[in-house]
Amino acid sequence: MADFSIEPEFAEKLEWVRGFVAEEVEAMDLVFDEMTAPYDRSSRAARAALKPLQDEVKRRGLWAGHLPSHDGGAGIGQVKLLYINEILGRTDWGPVVFGCQGPDSGNSEILAAFGTEDQKKRWLEPLVAGEMYSCFSMTEPSGGADPTRLRTRAVRDGDDWVIDGEKWYASHAQFADFIIVAAVTDPDAEPHKRNTLFIVPRGTPGLEIVREVGFFNEPAGQGGHPYLRFNGLRLPDSARLGGVGEGFAVAQARLGGGRIHHAMRAIGLCQRAIDMMTERSVSREVSGGHLIDRQSVQNDIASSAIALRQFRFQVLHAAWLFDAGLGHGREGRLAVAMVKVATADITKDILWKAMHMHGALGTSNEMAFGKYLGLAAMFGIADGPTEVHLSSVARALTRNVEPHPGFFPSDHLPARREAARAKLAPYLEAAA
Ligand SMILES: Cc1cc2nc3c(=O)[nH]c(=O)nc-3n(C[C@H](O)[C@H](O)[C@H](O)COP(=O)(O)OP(=O)(O)OC[C@H]3O[C@@H](n4cnc5c(N)ncnc54)[C@H](O)[C@@H]3O)c2cc1C
Repeated sequence: MADFSIEPEFAEKLEWVRGFVAEEVEAMDLVFDEMTAPYDRSSRAARAALKPLQDEVKRRGLWAGHLPSHDGGAGIGQVKLLYINEILGRTDWGPVVFGCQGPDSGNSEILAAFGTEDQKKRWLEPLVAGEMYSCFSMTEPSGGADPTRLRTRAVRDGDDWVIDGEKWYASHAQFADFIIVAAVTDPDAEPHKRNTLFIVPRGTPGLEIVREVGFFNEPAGQGGHPYLRFNGLRLPDSARLGGVGEGFAVAQARLGGGRIHHAMRAIGLCQRAIDMMTERSVSREVSGGHLIDRQSVQNDIASSAIALRQFRFQVLHAAWLFDAGLGHGREGRLAVAMVKVATADITKDILWKAMHMHGALGTSNEMAFGKYLGLAAMFGIADGPTEVHLSSVARALTRNVEPHPGFFPSDHLPARREAARAKLAPYLEAAA
């Protein structure tokens, strides 16, 4: 039976999260407001302010909500994580304060699932404890939407691997203690068996950060998504994460969770935008009343709220599939692909409407819409563009559909009517 109630004990925790985020985390957003600030350890003030907040979250048993307790997480499952993430999504710092930020969350999931005992000790434990940051680097400047076309090579040399190539949009690479990099180990293998993942520790000789790349609203040459070059970078075989040729499969395992976590946070971002719209609409005077008295404004607010409610139920269902152990199966993958597309569409729509309703102020650097719209654009590109997920959804929906013979479809009314008449013939004849 479907049940949308939240158990009282957890509802109390959520109440605390709401207050804590509004009081403590939003202050971090306002004072340390660069997009990269939550991952940049160079600000002593920010780090000093962050630590007690993280300690409080740990003390309350809400740290690393994406992970089960045996991997060092809160062990609350994905549905409860949604209720937390939709609050954190209203802020920039929330995920780092609660230890569930991407890409570290996805990286911790694959280290837990595929890492060796040594890798777990060296990388997973400090990552989950919040003592390290990480990066996941797959996309290359030559094209990212199709991960079967990577060019970065890892070549075996005795017991080592030697990596050469270029990557970009390697989010947080400049702050990361290690980078999980995808490289081609067998260019002749079938497309999904060509890549292998490797863990590259920070400072490994041959790792070059060519430049930082940021969102369009960030200053040139700055931002959290660097361009990387691997110049004959040498790693022992023990740095391999997962089997040779299994890079694609391992990477897929991290993306499902990552995509619904983005969606959960997007709910919070959209709710924040709707809150801004409602407040503005009753505050801003126009001739004969306020903005809320105009039908087009009413439409924008109502349609945004209706769309968000539908989206939230969609994400809840996907989260529930994960909790039911179906997240990585066919149904789960379909749900995640649908959520991925919907996340991009709804954020683009609601954030744009909210920005527009604020007029010039909405376009200014005195409101946060520039940052929000950058995130909306990201939702449509990162982890694969919308078109690729639309293709997956359509393919999944047609996989078992048989072609219908003849010129007309099975729903063609004349043929159906004839069959129905034949079925009901005794009644028709008796009444004639
Ligand atoms: C903010 C941000 C953070 C990111 N972080 C990371 C990260 O940490 N690690 C990482 O590895 N990557 C990261 N990425 C990269 C992201 O995964 C890629 O940008 C994405 O996969 C698309 O690749 P591309 O940019 O090369 O676009 P392209 O592959 O050049 O595609 C461009 C456009 O072409 C169209 N297109 C492409 N393929 C198809 C298709 N099959 N069908 C129809 N249309 C198509 C789409 O409109 C698409 O947007 C990040 C991206 C962003 C924006």
